[in-house]
Amino acid sequence: MIDATLHAPLASTQPSAYFREEHELLRRQVRRFVDAEIKPFAGAWELQGFVPRETLRAMGRLGFLGIRYPSAYGGSELDTLGSVVLAEELGRSTFSGVAITVLVHTDMASVHIAKAGSIAHKERHLADIVAGRAITALAVTEPDAGSDVKGIRTVARREGDAFVLNGAKLFITNGVHADLYCVAAKTALQARRSQSISMFLLERSTPGLKVSRQLDKHGWRSSDTAELLLEDCRVPAENLLGREGEGFYAIMRNFQNERIVLAAMAMGEAQAALELTLDYVATRKAFAAPLYDREAIRQRLAMLAAKIEAGRQLVYHAAFLDAQGIDCTCQVSMAKAYCGELVNEVMYDCVQFHGGMGLMSESAIERMARDARMQSIGGGATEVMLEEIAKRLRR
Ligand SMILES: Cc1cc2nc3c(=O)[nH]c(=O)nc-3n(C[C@H](O)[C@H](O)[C@H](O)COP(=O)(O)OP(=O)(O)OC[C@H]3O[C@@H](n4cnc5c(N)ncnc54)[C@H](O)[C@@H]3O)c2cc1C
Repeated sequence: MIDATLHAPLASTQPSAYFREEHELLRRQVRRFVDAEIKPFAGAWELQGFVPRETLRAMGRLGFLGIRYPSAYGGSELDTLGSVVLAEELGRSTFSGVAITVLVHTDMASVHIAKAGSIAHKERHLADIVAGRAITALAVTEPDAGSDVKGIRTVARREGDAFVLNGAKLFITNGVHADLYCVAAKTALQARRSQSISMFLLERSTPGLKVSRQLDKHGWRSSDTAELLLEDCRVPAENLLGREGEGFYAIMRNFQNERIVLAAMAMGEAQAALELTLDYVATRKAFAAPLYDREAIRQRLAMLAAKIEAGRQLVYHAAFLDAQGIDCTCQVSMAKAYCGELVNEVMYDCVQFHGGMGLMSESAIERMARDARMQSIGGGATEVMLEEIAKRLRR
């Protein structure tokens, strides 16, 4: 018979050496919000293809959108582990489209304004970003350049006190509904590729900035994804984020945080899938006994639990090092590669143990398996992460 203690909270809810009281408080608050304000409604958001602005504002009011930002703008000045908590708990929601909508805003796009923006940019936008009144998108990827960021072709030509941007951006999360876009463009076509890119802040109303398509996609269906066109898009020179020619380095620096966050989100997804599947196999009977009574199934789930714990600790460790300001590119790449692959392994087995029900749109695991597919591709595909690790293995 099934052992009832199986359903006791698993590792991510247990005390951890990495987290302080403020992290645990945040975890409890986000988990409550996910249960009350996301899970009951997100099925409808999957169908409409975006998260309602009111939900994002509610998260802003609770402080979830500014956990890393200065208190002067309404933020709570937590560290990388705070982002990990947010990402893990949103990942556990089972609706990764909602998770990515929020995390692109908090940890991937607005970061360019918070870190490289001028005082005027921050004064104008950060309080709104923290409150969820202004939602941000990051536009780097293009039809001909994804993993290879240096290969982008969007050009920003200097004309007097402005830059004129021309190009196209693809797969831009929050791109349909964003208020602010952090856009990568080439400002120096003759320079070394790593010194040719600059970042710009574009407001939604900027003439020449167009959402050319809202993209339909396999997973993350409650997050909006856009193709953008920049046609003679005139941006005041003061909208340069950071120094001209330093955009590539800014993108690479922010990738460290982005990858930690994606890996944490993946481990939240994996944990939720494991818990759902444990519940399912506890009650589903075949051959006169619950599926959990089959050694083949429970041992497989036990191994997945061990791997999820390993992945989680790898993420926590990378986040801890990052929070100390220690260069941890290797650990971050390991976490992203390992967790991005692991979450797909977990989903595969969890669908398997749901049997036919695992393929039905009405079951959460079907959606979760689709959502997880992105984790080994976005924000640094597994192969790219393995190259980062390999470079550092040889001394
Ligand atoms: C739903 C969704 C949301 C996204 N959101 C954003 C966003 O908000 N902003 C943004 O700028 N971008 C976004 N992206 C883009 C995403 O980051 C890219 O898709 C990703 O970086 C991979 O780039 P690519 O699709 O051009 O694949 P490519 O670069 O063409 O690579 C294809 C595949 O080749 C392999 N590969 C690539 N490089 C190597 C290598 N060096 N060695 C070995 N194998 C390799 C990998 O398996 C990779 O998946 C999003 C994408 C999707 C699908």
